[in-house]
Amino acid sequence: MTKTYKIAAIPGDGIGKEVLPEGLRVLEAVSRRFGIQLEFTHIDWASCDYYQKTGQMMPDDWRAQLQPMDAIYFGAVGWPASVPDHVSLWGSLLKFRREFDQYINLRPVRLFEGVPCPLAGRQPGDIDYLVVRENTEGEYTNLGGVMYGGTDREIVIQESVYSRFGADRVLKYAFELAQQRDRRHLTVATKSNGIAIAMPWWDSRADAVGQAYPSVTVDKQHIDILTARFVLQPGRFDVVVASNLFGDILSDLGPATTGTIGLAPSANLNPERSFPSLFEPVHGSAPDIYGRNIANPVAMIWSGAMMLQFLGHEDAHDAILQAIERTLIEGPRTPDLGGTASTTDMGRAIAERI
Ligand code: ATP
Ligand code: MG
Repeated sequence: MTKTYKIAAIPGDGIGKEVLPEGLRVLEAVSRRFGIQLEFTHIDWASCDYYQKTGQMMPDDWRAQLQPMDAIYFGAVGWPASVPDHVSLWGSLLKFRREFDQYINLRPVRLFEGVPCPLAGRQPGDIDYLVVRENTEGEYTNLGGVMYGGTDREIVIQESVYSRFGADRVLKYAFELAQQRDRRHLTVATKSNGIAIAMPWWDSRADAVGQAYPSVTVDKQHIDILTARFVLQPGRFDVVVASNLFGDILSDLGPATTGTIGLAPSANLNPERSFPSLFEPVHGSAPDIYGRNIANPVAMIWSGAMMLQFLGHEDAHDAILQAIERTLIEGPRTPDLGGTASTTDMGRAIAERI
């Protein structure tokens, strides 16, 4: 008997509500072609509309509703005109990441044919790497405080926290990923010359974990020069692993070098599958373009491909990527790609090519 995957489909806010249906259209096409059973549960919470009706972003039993799912397919959250961003974000997406221990944030960075690149002279193939961001610890903590507040002697302390468990598991994931790729190269983001306790320790954990992966070449780079190389020498990179803050920066910079934000997908993974993983476009709810049916659906669709890949369906992933590639070359294209097509036109074209 083939397995039926349970998928929570959560549009959220703004263009999340426009791009998610295109993602579902493509998932339905690819699941028909490859005989994959997907069972969707459509969820209207984790949205600012729900907040306005109920005073909270999600129902109290959100965990119980989502825990049985194999994956969460998520549009975008945030509608700052009615709900402050910290309320909507902390009340939904960040809860998923933390409470479902989605400790890997994975973002592919790739330049496609037919998409204008903001870096001069780059061809498709020159930019093709994966950023692996640690998603649960490091620089993002609530530890610290202000001393002598309001006086001339005011001091602020903000702690970073790294655990051997937390660092080793993200490094291991990155090494495994690098080992599966053709180039088998891992760049470890560091800053051991300036952050003199945590980063030398992070480097030593990379050395320790790397012992088990002799076929992977490792290159430790300070975050400052690393960001410069994302722009100047993107061809150097294959898999890049970074702490929470450094990874946050790299995983926005990388996609920005490959054209429009409307293409960039992401996965928030719990690789052990103790909890559902979440797949979402990098972009937000884009209130400035919502309601016009002009958002680029590719980031959402590609995130769906990553979801199927995570569920073990590499062939379905590849078929979606091929359909995206052809559509970026032959059209139709949304306005952010220089075209005049609607979100729906582009989603339909990709689904038809599957
Ligand atoms: P965040 O949700 O991370 O806070 P934000 O709200 O600042 O992000 P986005 O919602 O991602 O930003 O929008 C940033 C810009 O990119 C906006 O001008 C938006 O219109 C544009 N944009 C975002 N997503 C898309 C898309 N899928 N297609 C076309 N344009 C997009
Ligand atoms: Mg936003």
